[in-house]
Amino acid sequence: MILEKKVHVCRKCQSEKIVKNGTNGSGSPQYHCKTCGAYGVLEPRQDYTEEEKEIMIKAYQERSSMRGIERTFGVCRQTLSAWLKKRQNSSHPLRAR
Ligand SMILES: [Zn+2]
Repeated sequence: MILEKKVHVCRKCQSEKIVKNGTNGSGSPQYHCKTCGAYGVLEPRQDYTEEEKEIMIKAYQERSSMRGIERTFGVCRQTLSAWLKKRQNSSHPLRAR
């Protein structure tokens, strides 16, 4: 039997000494690490609808700031850049300016 016990750790230093630090704009719980002092999203949502992806990609293209998108939507930067790459390889490439 596999027990799925979730232990939240700091994404930067893997420390378990983290405390909840409210929620961000999209309602994702935030944590504050007592070991390295990092702030981050405790449980970023893993599944996004196509619509949500579209919104985030558009927001990124407008503001060109992954950090901002990360903070606003609680999406992981790696996730976002994976979408952008996928998009570039898709049948609708971004037009070069
Ligand atoms: Zn930490």
